[in-house]
Amino acid sequence: MKNLFSKYLSVLLLIVSGNFAFAADKPNIIIIVADDLGYADLGVQGCKDFHTPHIDSIAKNGIRCTSGYVSGPYCSPTRAGLLTGRYQQRFGHEFNPGPAGNNSPAFGLSLDETPLPQLLKSAGYKTGMVGKWHLGSTVKFNPINRGFDEYFGFLGGANSYISGENIVRGTKPVQEHEYLTDAFAREAVAYVDKNKKDPFFLYLTFNAVHTPLHESPKHQLEIDKIPNKNRRIYASMLFAMDDAVGKLLAKLEKENIAENTLIFFISDNGGPEGVNFSDNGPLRGVKATTWEGGVRVPFFVQWKSVLPKGKTFDNPVIQLDILPTVLAATGGEYSHKKKLDGVNLLPYLKGENKEPPHDALFWRFGAQMAIRMGDWKLTKAPGDDIKFNRSDLPSAEGSHLFNLKDDIGESKNIASANPEKVKALTEAWNQWNKELVKPSWGQQNQKAKKKTN
Ligand code: CA
Repeated sequence: MKNLFSKYLSVLLLIVSGNFAFAADKPNIIIIVADDLGYADLGVQGCKDFHTPHIDSIAKNGIRCTSGYVSGPYCSPTRAGLLTGRYQQRFGHEFNPGPAGNNSPAFGLSLDETPLPQLLKSAGYKTGMVGKWHLGSTVKFNPINRGFDEYFGFLGGANSYISGENIVRGTKPVQEHEYLTDAFAREAVAYVDKNKKDPFFLYLTFNAVHTPLHESPKHQLEIDKIPNKNRRIYASMLFAMDDAVGKLLAKLEKENIAENTLIFFISDNGGPEGVNFSDNGPLRGVKATTWEGGVRVPFFVQWKSVLPKGKTFDNPVIQLDILPTVLAATGGEYSHKKKLDGVNLLPYLKGENKEPPHDALFWRFGAQMAIRMGDWKLTKAPGDDIKFNRSDLPSAEGSHLFNLKDDIGESKNIASANPEKVKALTEAWNQWNKELVKPSWGQQNQKAKKKTN
């Protein structure tokens, strides 16, 4: 009897301790998204005219992916890709909402998709979002109906930083009084404070440094040195975001949860240089193009207790990888029957798997296209040397070939010297393109509508 009792006791202890270990091991997840940030506008990305110490610290305490991409050159589509782990053109989310606007009940992240917060909620996570949504403004598309326990932010694609208008908590409008980036910092820190004892997911999506160019009165340091007035305003907006990231990171340290928190930092697309005075550095092109300047972004991953610190990772990765990586880290399950395009990056970032995570990455944005395979990139995007109409059907015909290892600025079209390479990349892109559906809204729909009316 005594033996039987001690056997039960040991089993019970095993279960209890096992459970404790499991709960303690589950990492917190934070995904930070900047908006329209220039590729070269962070210290670790080579910025020369100002400093961004807090955002830089994510790269310094983790891994900087030098070929980090997003699956489109525009705000809403890449957020749809991020939260589903799937090329957003598979479900028609190729463009921003277009003339129907954010408030149309037809526009939003497809209800047939299962977004990351929903998957994490099923895995026992608290789920919170602070910031810009841009995946549908009607109630059925609201973050709290797509897997988030709580939400503070604005639903559209851009917002004033100073008027305090268009802000909601859940579905209820609230009036904000702080500079918006400071308000997002306050809410993010409060969310961590409330959920620090549970494994949590925080999706923090700044509208900085998207227009309007509203400078932050509190963030004026160093800007005297910047000659251009608009660039000074941009820097002030970026300092506010860097400060907000610093406050969040300091909170994690204070609560002793920084070590076991997996953090991603990306921009949702490249900088629209002439619009917000961002700088994409050596990259050709800007937001809204499939040149590197539209789709290659700062991409950092920090998980102090698991990943190496201060390393760079040079194989191409994409924001679609975030969902499978997070699920692998949390023990979450992908219950969805549909194809995932992202891959779990952890074995690659840890150095356990030396192969590239992807054979190829693909883009389609209306008549623009691109494919990257190894160092090679085939692309068709608006430029002096590439002519096509915006209403053309997607096609790789007339595209240019670059070797990014030698030519990160996509300046030398070497298509004619490498016909076999052009053929291989064209075939791979055509195959991928066949799997996509027509855009549900935006650019092409608009054209089609005009023709039939
Ligand atoms: Ca954007």
